[in-house]
Amino acid sequence: MSSLKVLAQLVKELDDQIVVCMRCGMCQSACPLFAETGREADVARGKLALLDGLAQELFANPQGVQDRLTRCLLCGSCAANCPSGVKVLDIFIKARAILAGYMGLSPLKKAIFRRLLSKPDFFNKVLAWGAKFQGIFIRPVDDLLGSSCSRFLSPLLKGRHMKPLAATPLHRSVPSLNTAPGPGGTKVALFVGCLIDKIFPEVGQAVLKVLNHHGVGVYMPPDQACCGIPALSSGDTQSFDRLVRHNLALFGSEPLDYLVTACATCTSTIKKMWPLMSQEYPEAEKTRIAELAAKTMDISEFLVDQVGIEEGGRGEAADRVILTYHDPCHLKKSLGVAVQPRALLRAHPAYELKEMAEADWCCGCGGSFNLQEYDISAAIGRRKRENIVKSQCAIVATACPACMLQMTDMLSQAGVRVRVRHAIEVYAESL
Ligand code: SF4
Ligand code: SF4
Repeated sequence: MSSLKVLAQLVKELDDQIVVCMRCGMCQSACPLFAETGREADVARGKLALLDGLAQELFANPQGVQDRLTRCLLCGSCAANCPSGVKVLDIFIKARAILAGYMGLSPLKKAIFRRLLSKPDFFNKVLAWGAKFQGIFIRPVDDLLGSSCSRFLSPLLKGRHMKPLAATPLHRSVPSLNTAPGPGGTKVALFVGCLIDKIFPEVGQAVLKVLNHHGVGVYMPPDQACCGIPALSSGDTQSFDRLVRHNLALFGSEPLDYLVTACATCTSTIKKMWPLMSQEYPEAEKTRIAELAAKTMDISEFLVDQVGIEEGGRGEAADRVILTYHDPCHLKKSLGVAVQPRALLRAHPAYELKEMAEADWCCGCGGSFNLQEYDISAAIGRRKRENIVKSQCAIVATACPACMLQMTDMLSQAGVRVRVRHAIEVYAESL
């Protein structure tokens, strides 16, 4: 059998999910990528048709299909708006894995995922080195946003304004934690996530402050690894499996009520992608993953739905600072969590939550999409920036560190004086 036939058969295994698409095109109006490019190959319907063509052996260009499949934010806006309930993200993720298995990973991706990301201790050391010497390559550009830009013309960094690596990552200031629960008797495990650990450790500190305030016991094991989504998005299931198993060994055996994270992407990966991609694992492992996924929730969901929070008193309306909220796709579209982060923001008496237009329109980050397709990512981000500016806010809050990076970049490039904060930081400040 030719290797293309083998590939077609592998893609055919997704057929029962692909055929659910009735080609209605409703996903066009929801897709942030299509809104910028207007290209059918960029929207879910077009990508599903390409996969179908590959499965039916109608064309023999797997590279072309892979290129188009990679041009996607994996934001889930299409799936959330699909009247047929097509599991678009599940299909795309599995298809990326099939195609990467067939075509192979680039040497750069192999090195990043298998030699760096999969080895948490080494990854931490390399990034500590990076934090020490980053000043050679980048310079501060906006003190309010804490952003920096490249010192040199760089095709890699382009015109990006980025958040530098933190001088002290969370795993250095709080290497581990295992505290007893208070009178409520609730204990959670905290999955920190790479971006919070290495770029926004203050968000992790805010989570710890809030959990301590509410008398929630915290289990935070040392040596935590990435949730695996960067590797999985590139189809590298080998690195993904390794990261899942590493984290499972840390979290899967400890008795805990919930596993919480302050990163929407980590939450949705643990809840949805870990079970999806562990179907071939041994039964016992699969069960532990399913149990952990069922206990996983966003920190705002845990605080509002399980702990219960109180709104602070209201100051004079004229004195309140306007704050707006951006819905991370991985929180609202993947997990349906939108009310709870807003409840955290309303709990702060000094702020007035004012909704921006299109609060749940993707910010354009999309993880590796931002690295590979920066121009489109920035174009989507500028739409978000316009809505933030129109809201006349002083602060834009969100619940995902990746969205924080993207909005910081967009606001900083335009010199807009709006702070970017995580909802949990705002709530922690109110206590
Ligand atoms: S909205 Fe759903 S069913 Fe309609 S074309 Fe898009 S993916 Fe297919
Ligand atoms: S996941 Fe997002 S970017 Fe990708 S096709 Fe769906 S709506 Fe478009």
